Amino acid sequence: NAPLAAADPEIAAQIQNEIKRQHEGLEMIASENFVSRAVLEAAGTVFTNKYAEGYPGKRYYGGCEYADIVEDIARARAKQLFNADHANVQPHSGSQANAAAYMTLLNPGDCILGLDLAHGGHLTHGHKLNFSGKLYRIVGYQVRKDTETVDYDELEATAIREKPKVIVGGGSAYPRQFDFPRMRAIADKVGAYLMVDMAHFAGLVAGGAHPSPVPHAHVVTTTTHKTLRGPRAGMILCNQDLAAGIDRSVFPGQQGGPLIHIVAAKAVAFKEALAPEFATYAKQVVTNAKVLAEAIAAEGYRIISGGTDTHVMLIDVFQKGMLGSEAEHALGEAGITVNKNAIPYDTNPPMKPSGIRIGTPALTTRGMKEPEMRIIAGWIAQALEHRTDPSKLRQIRGQVLEMAENFPLYGWLRDK
Ligand code: PLP
Repeated sequence: NAPLAAADPEIAAQIQNEIKRQHEGLEMIASENFVSRAVLEAAGTVFTNKYAEGYPGKRYYGGCEYADIVEDIARARAKQLFNADHANVQPHSGSQANAAAYMTLLNPGDCILGLDLAHGGHLTHGHKLNFSGKLYRIVGYQVRKDTETVDYDELEATAIREKPKVIVGGGSAYPRQFDFPRMRAIADKVGAYLMVDMAHFAGLVAGGAHPSPVPHAHVVTTTTHKTLRGPRAGMILCNQDLAAGIDRSVFPGQQGGPLIHIVAAKAVAFKEALAPEFATYAKQVVTNAKVLAEAIAAEGYRIISGGTDTHVMLIDVFQKGMLGSEAEHALGEAGITVNKNAIPYDTNPPMKPSGIRIGTPALTTRGMKEPEMRIIAGWIAQALEHRTDPSKLRQIRGQVLEMAENFPLYGWLRDK
């Protein structure tokens, strides 16, 4: 029973390195966040040992009395948080949540109408190499070229023509709010289900900083680790009439035993999200994103769709003479982590796209506000301008470290 550092120094060292990396840099990947000490503790518990196939009260294994309590609490808190009739908290990931939702609503070969990946959608909304693209007939909707926001008239025309069985709202790189009532009206008109994948903005919904898709969609799927600030996992919300189908699709449809340690961590995260401080957090995430987008635009960069209503923005760096991959690398050298990203109607290939995607959830968790966003926008512009100058990038990295030290992260883990 040696501690990890003694039992496996190779892995322990990388964990310590990762703690240091997260503390010392500026994490601006829009899909990432920092969980609390309580969530981290719940995730690292002996529930990892427990098989609990089935659902509370109806398990295929003995010894589930405590697992049942944990899952019941997680479900109750999820329903309260999102005002939903039913919650399934077992999906191991956002992708598996989507797989289970499709399995409930569709048969193989049926049509899904989702936001094109190239316009901000997710792989599970119909990429040809993803299960979604292999099992179902995929039709995409797009953003308008002039506004770079979803073209609902085109969506409606496509829905009438293609007769999808499911219309999917939500995406991974779409900075604006989706019009859920309009999407539901279109779905009703063509006899389709509306599914909203709120993975990116679930935390904003929980904190009241974004409209909720729950009253409009037949099924809502999400990850729990992005703006929602829980452990790495997924969840499905639906009405009572779809509840039994959703539960069957998650288990035994897509998964075996649930990860009860992660379900416990989800329950803790939901409790945090129900607290009034989380509403303050969610609003600050959006404010920070707006301020950051304005400050980056003031540096001469084109922000896709002219700004953001959420936690995420897309920046056209190609217009300033570089590829998204070069920008990602330069910012990485300066201690700022972002990801390269295609922009709508991109003329460059996916691995060397024209944009970068930036988000504020993780920095906001550290306590950063508008003044830090303005400073960071300046560093981003400088780093991109001096992207081939290692000494300048090192100098910015020093300033980044100084700021990071003022917003410490996981101190009790670093002091070991
Ligand atoms: N749905 C959306 C909109 C996402 O952005 C993501 C992840 O980036 C997922 C689903 C998939 O989540 P996971 O990585 O947990 O499978």
